[in-house]
Amino acid sequence: MSTTVSEPGTAQRAAFGNAIALVCRACGAEQALGPYYACDECFGPLEVGYDVERVTREQIEAGPKSIWRYQPLLPVPSDVASFPNTEPGFTRLIRADNLARELGIKTLWVKDDSGNPTHSFKDRVVAVALSAARELGLKVLACPSTGNLANAVAAAAARAGMKSVVFIPHDLERPKVLTTAVYDGTLVAVRGTYDDVNRLASEIAGEEEDWAFVNVNVRPYYSEGSKTLGFEVAEQLGWRLPEQVVIPVASGSQLTKVDKGFGELVKVGLVDDTPYRIFGAQAEGCSPVATAFKEGHDVVRPVRPDTIAKSLAIGNPADGPYVLDTCRRTSGAVEHVTDEEVVEGIRLLARTEGIFGETAGGVTVATLKKLVDTGQLDPEVETVVFNTGDGLKTLDAVSGRVGPAATIEPTYAAFTAADLI
Ligand SMILES: *Cc1c(COP(=O)(O)O)cnc(C)c1O
Ligand SMILES: [Zn+2]
Repeated sequence: MSTTVSEPGTAQRAAFGNAIALVCRACGAEQALGPYYACDECFGPLEVGYDVERVTREQIEAGPKSIWRYQPLLPVPSDVASFPNTEPGFTRLIRADNLARELGIKTLWVKDDSGNPTHSFKDRVVAVALSAARELGLKVLACPSTGNLANAVAAAAARAGMKSVVFIPHDLERPKVLTTAVYDGTLVAVRGTYDDVNRLASEIAGEEEDWAFVNVNVRPYYSEGSKTLGFEVAEQLGWRLPEQVVIPVASGSQLTKVDKGFGELVKVGLVDDTPYRIFGAQAEGCSPVATAFKEGHDVVRPVRPDTIAKSLAIGNPADGPYVLDTCRRTSGAVEHVTDEEVVEGIRLLARTEGIFGETAGGVTVATLKKLVDTGQLDPEVETVVFNTGDGLKTLDAVSGRVGPAATIEPTYAAFTAADLI
């Protein structure tokens, strides 16, 4: 761990800001902040605990236009923004009246996280993991990835002047391979599914002591980055919680941390304690959490993924049980949609709001539609739906489905003859 600076006249710089411990989500035992992800007592997953009483809106609003404005609620030092980083976050929240009308919803917003530096929400989590890696003195930034994390890790490491080693399934979408490789870290394609790649990464993490596997041994810090999605939504709504949120589920980390973030905003006095419902979205070809939700189970039975929504294709989701708990506790639901509906979801969002989302966005928009159609989501109250990645990453999903209305000769006669308008 890095030393604390204590020059005369300068404030003490705590490596992890207001974070004070890692707390077990299963048994509540606490342990010191470090590169750990499993509880010493029961092997349960660890999350970051804080000692912070009050944070003011002015304090946040005076911060940088990135996730670092929420530094008091993240496990990062107060000068985190001064280290080279990709500056993710502060993405747009747009009012989606056309989509709302189409779906029969009264008030709808899209939180569009495709605007991040590598065009997915993963830049948020990686930035926090990178800070932890630096403070813990770890030298290599690594991950197993379904694609978007690979982009984010390779880019963040390049900018921070760190080595990166990224492991991906060999059959990943070509654009995601190229957009990772271009940052010139070490990219390893593994013959297997994401879950095989993940298992391999855990094994390597056990051997390489100075590596930070962002979603393995520094996972508690990584996950905290997802809270910033919730923080931004609340701030952009004028410092209040939305009534309903629809969130894609891969490992389930994002969904559970948005909920944690909402709770922390209430605790430190930034928003009123108003009720909200959280809904999870999965693709049918990889829907272990939605299945468990529908069947009323507390445990999630792993599946072998088979869906075009590769960024969500985690067959054995680490936070699955916590997603079930969150969605049940907030009177939400977890629903799944077919690949055909995913493509329709992508096209619907594009056609109504001019936002081209990746397959994860298609899953989430299609799930929103299904939740409305099946009466699970209240169309009368304010809803926020997440688009977590850019459609340019998953062009195959729409190729062959959309294209030019006609190909014509460059003459006015040819244009009118084509009878296009
Ligand atoms: C990783 C990812 C998610 C959610 O991941 P979790 O593992 O559930 O936190 C959502 N959308 C996109 C585009 C992603 O890449
Ligand atoms: Zn425990």
